[in-house]
Amino acid sequence: MRTTTLTDERCHPVDFDDTPDEAAYRARVRAALAEHADELVHLDAGEEAADPREQEQALRRTQRVLAEAGLVGVAWAAEHGGQGGSLAQQAIVGQELARARVPSLINHIGIGMCGPTVIAHGTPEQHERYLARLLRADDVWCQLFSEPASGSDLAALRTTAVRDGEDWVVNGQKVWTTLAHVADFGILLARTDPGRPKHAGLTMFVLDMHAPGVTVRPLRQMGGQSDFNEVFLDDVRIPDGERLGEPGEGWRVALTTLLNERVAVGGGGNDLGLSVEALARLAADRLPGLPADRQVLARQALGRAAVAALANRYTGYRRLTAISQGGLPGPEASAGKLAGTAAAKLVADAGVRLLGDDAVFAVGPGDDDAGRWQRNQAWLPGIAIAGGTDEVLRNIVGERVLGLPPEPREDKHRPFHATGSRA
Ligand SMILES: Cc1cc2nc3c(=O)[nH]c(=O)nc-3n(C[C@H](O)[C@H](O)[C@H](O)COP(=O)(O)OP(=O)(O)OC[C@H]3O[C@@H](n4cnc5c(N)ncnc54)[C@H](O)[C@@H]3O)c2cc1C
Repeated sequence: MRTTTLTDERCHPVDFDDTPDEAAYRARVRAALAEHADELVHLDAGEEAADPREQEQALRRTQRVLAEAGLVGVAWAAEHGGQGGSLAQQAIVGQELARARVPSLINHIGIGMCGPTVIAHGTPEQHERYLARLLRADDVWCQLFSEPASGSDLAALRTTAVRDGEDWVVNGQKVWTTLAHVADFGILLARTDPGRPKHAGLTMFVLDMHAPGVTVRPLRQMGGQSDFNEVFLDDVRIPDGERLGEPGEGWRVALTTLLNERVAVGGGGNDLGLSVEALARLAADRLPGLPADRQVLARQALGRAAVAALANRYTGYRRLTAISQGGLPGPEASAGKLAGTAAAKLVADAGVRLLGDDAVFAVGPGDDDAGRWQRNQAWLPGIAIAGGTDEVLRNIVGERVLGLPPEPREDKHRPFHATGSRA
């Protein structure tokens, strides 16, 4: 096995190849994907259903087939319906799904973030009620954290939950809630004690998205699709049995979700390496036909994109090596999303530059492969915001990796209602 040891003591050595066990596992995953190919949705041209409801059902079926083949919840414990495998095996499944052009699992937020939060903080009854159905996409989940006035500063959220007998009564608004328009359940962070400092007065709940008082309004993105939503909560009753963790412990529960979000985003399943291969094929096809002045610019864009994407790929190998050796993602995972998003933007821009007008005209359901570059270009600014904006990630790198002085946070210890914010 080729192993490179880097001199910086914070860096893990990098394995570029699978271990024999990982190679055998990868072969089994490939065989399973080939066996079930006819039952899965693929990203290939022309397969996208025009009707969003049909598309949703097809994606639910795809996840069910994969779950039955043992390819969902790979690193979840068997007692929770998972496969009891390693994070490295989970990353291999992610890579092979990308290679087979199977789209992201419809319940990726449930599997990556909500499920692990229910596992860590839920009761045995909640485990029993939710986890197996979540893995099979019988129930789709969403994450109800961000609000119009609290995204990066999540702990400043204003949605309230007030105890009333055996229930909590919830009022407020969430926004940017991915998948809320198809979700059956969500994890909801709400303020239960405005008299305490902002981080201390929060509680987490499981919300039934079909409950009376829940209104979901899809938001239209610049790429034409509607992936996320506004969610309005008007006197929604949540039984106390649907609380996750103790009252006032919501921030601790939310940190479990956010840690898992970072592992999910940095889990190695992205297809940036495959995009570079596709970019090289596109360049071989298109470059010779471009006028000389555009060729020069396109070559430079290609070079920049390939360098960034390959650097990102090798950093990803370091992360996978750490995971495969039983570690957890370290500081490189914090920087990973920042670098990965920047590299993906360069790759999409280079593809659009090669295609010129064709990139624009090939957009829409059922378009040919050319449309993917433009779709990615329109989608990536959102990725630079979701799960921590570029600026906030740079703050984290500054404070936690480089050890720079923290930002002033003068409202941290004052009661929430005394900060000028009103729940
Ligand atoms: C594609 C997508 C999917 C999403 N899905 C979900 C979801 O499923 N559930 C959910 O709850 N939320 C979701 N979000 C919301 C996301 O978590 C927030 O958009 C994000 O946390 C930023 O919050 P904000 O939009 O309120 O921006 P703000 O926090 O208001 O930030 C505005 C600008 O100020 C900058 N800024 C803020 N604070 C600082 C600081 N301390 N230092 C320097 N700069 C700063 C930011 O970088 C940004 O440029 C999603 C967002 C996107 C784009």
